[in-house]
Amino acid sequence: MSKIEMKTPLVEMDGDEMTRIIWKLIKDELLLPYIDLKTEYYDLGLPHRDETDDQVTFDAAEATKKYGVAVKCATITPNQARIKEYNLKRMYKSPNGTIRAILDGTVFRAPILVKGIDPYVRTWKKPITMARHAYGDVYKNTEIRVPGPGQGELVFTSDNGTVIRETIHEFDGPGILQGIHNTDHSIESFARSCFQFALNRKEDLWFSCKDTISKTYDENFKSIFQRLYDEEYKEAFDKAGITYFYTLIDDAVARVIRSEGGFIWALKNYDGDVMSDMMATAFGSLAMMTSILVSPDGNYEYEAAHGTVQRHYYKHLKGEETSTNSVATIFAWTGALRKRGELDEIPALVRFADALDRAVIETIESGKMTGDLAMITTLQGVEKLSTQDFIKAIRQRLDQILNA
Ligand code: NAP
Ligand code: MG
Repeated sequence: MSKIEMKTPLVEMDGDEMTRIIWKLIKDELLLPYIDLKTEYYDLGLPHRDETDDQVTFDAAEATKKYGVAVKCATITPNQARIKEYNLKRMYKSPNGTIRAILDGTVFRAPILVKGIDPYVRTWKKPITMARHAYGDVYKNTEIRVPGPGQGELVFTSDNGTVIRETIHEFDGPGILQGIHNTDHSIESFARSCFQFALNRKEDLWFSCKDTISKTYDENFKSIFQRLYDEEYKEAFDKAGITYFYTLIDDAVARVIRSEGGFIWALKNYDGDVMSDMMATAFGSLAMMTSILVSPDGNYEYEAAHGTVQRHYYKHLKGEETSTNSVATIFAWTGALRKRGELDEIPALVRFADALDRAVIETIESGKMTGDLAMITTLQGVEKLSTQDFIKAIRQRLDQILNA
């Protein structure tokens, strides 16, 4: 069989620890034998980030803007322990944070559903994708511990000197104050990424916040979403047969639980933080969660939602057998290849991505899986495979599918 040709390179961002091991296995076993893989390679592994003073992360983000599609391996976000462990020149910022800031993007997290790994919510039949606004609110707050009686105020001084002043509370004793903000620019980017992603997926988009209580702050989110929808996206949504739906956050929570799934749920920063961990767990496993960064102008970066699986890596270094789940990382690759195939009009590449996804799902559903899934599956008589053997099992299944 001749290999599938690519036109435009994928931006490939390599990473750290166990996921770096998996990265190479995936390429060697599941991609290179079938595709004439064209990538522009950026090594975001911590040693190389340190060598380049993190320039490589910036270059990789710029390349994503240039080519439009990237695939990223999990990377270490350094802390004090990592500075020692890797003898780093300094404490680098989270690569994901850097890339997100440059692409001005929103992160979408979606579970991969397979039979035998059942969501805790019985009604869920299709994935629910979470979109979390990643700017402002309580994550960039200013807080004051109020020592005693006095007046708490909110003050805005404009560049031309005009002052807007509101009383927050007349304190008759000790208490607390918190100031948060957001910008129209950031909210618009978030909304655009969400509309763009919904169109791409052909799934309904829900947005929820608390505009009945927060009549200026949350109401601003609601009205920006509504305005952009009416002015720029409604026609395309109608054509795609999907809808945009706003409802209050508490109503949305109740509806999500009763739903069948199959839609995108956009949330403000804190709501998204809390809800995405609940949703990931409710769907079964963090190792089965993919993550896509989408910029408002339509650039895509695909990755797994989990980290570098450090504990498994140290077992691996000691020569012990590991059973690390590679599914989310494989789906990052297939997501990126499918997107590239669609943009460059290479149907064979799209078909290959579909076939590999299917091979992964059928392998698990046939009872062959890694330890994390073997622990929670409802399937009987499953075989727990090592990191390497799981990927080999997927390859066997892939060959069967491709030769059928
Ligand atoms: P982690 O890599 O997500 O792993 C935490 C635990 O979850 C693992 O020890 C393992 O549990 C389980 N797990 C996660 N992914 C798994 C998989 N694919 N297969 C099987 N089990 C899996 O989080 P961490 O160990 O807290 O973080 C390690 C490094 O990852 C940190 O340096 C952090 O900065 C980085 N990180 C990167 C990203 C990213 O690049 N997107 C995201 C998060 C964290 P058991 O040990 O019980 O088997
Ligand atoms: Mg969180």
